[in-house]
Amino acid sequence: MINFEYQNIKRFLPNIIPAGIVLVFLGGFTAYGFVRISSLNKNIGLLQTELASTTALLSQNTTLLAQSITDLRSQTVGLSNTLTSAQQNIDAVKTQVGGVEQTVGTISGTVGNLQKLSMTDPELLKKYSKVFFLNENYVPAHLFNIPEDYLYSSLRSEQFLAEAWPFLKNLFDTAKANGVTIYVKSAYRSFAEQQSLKSMYSVVYGAGTANSFSADQGYSEHQLGTALDVIVPGIGGQLEESFDKTAGFQWLVNNAYRFGFELSYPKGNNYYVYEPWHWRFVGVKLATYLHNNKLNFYDMDQRDIDTYLANVFD
Ligand SMILES: [Zn+2]
Repeated sequence: MINFEYQNIKRFLPNIIPAGIVLVFLGGFTAYGFVRISSLNKNIGLLQTELASTTALLSQNTTLLAQSITDLRSQTVGLSNTLTSAQQNIDAVKTQVGGVEQTVGTISGTVGNLQKLSMTDPELLKKYSKVFFLNENYVPAHLFNIPEDYLYSSLRSEQFLAEAWPFLKNLFDTAKANGVTIYVKSAYRSFAEQQSLKSMYSVVYGAGTANSFSADQGYSEHQLGTALDVIVPGIGGQLEESFDKTAGFQWLVNNAYRFGFELSYPKGNNYYVYEPWHWRFVGVKLATYLHNNKLNFYDMDQRDIDTYLANVFD
């Protein structure tokens, strides 16, 4: 019996040995596999722990960051509120300063105008033709002898109000530069000169006719020193209506206001005959106002005219 078993074993032994070896290898591999898996599991566990702690840290940091952003936001709002109120304060101060400046400006403007008015001859812008009267003692404060170059005739000297002369000189010089020659025929006339002129006219033409074209002494704009009669070459040296057909007259109509001059007696006026040659200085502002609004000096209210007096030489 035992022998039989041995015989059997002996017979199967060549098969059992490789099977055993295979079994041993398999067992080894399995054991190795278990060890590897266990070690991998351990690593995974470690990684999981690490991940968990990292995630926790990250979430903590995110919370802190969110908190910081919220804090910053509220600080920004606070800062912006502060800036707004600071700007409001600045604006309020600016408004106050502006108001003060404006007040100071108005006061200094008023003082300036009052100062100018106190130094300006109140007669300068009065309506003299048959309305206001200048007595025999009225003589302009400063009279300037017009240089001969500007006179039509050198036989008689002509004078103009010194303060208004630069405006007249500028007018003549500009006209000349534009190719238009204009001369002064007659400028300032004293009370006595006007009186003798009127008497002479009355003798020659009769009082009625003379009244229509010549002012009585004391009512002439020429006594102010700011009015003048102009003439151009080639019309015989006489002051005639035909003067309005000349280039000189047309130039004056278009440009005289820029130098402060107006035509006192235009066609159809209620004071004197049409005098296209007679121009009066009233200041650039008033002359421009008259020109732009197609108004005549004598049609304006004296009170409105007077508002231009302070700036007559501006
Ligand atoms: Zn005149």
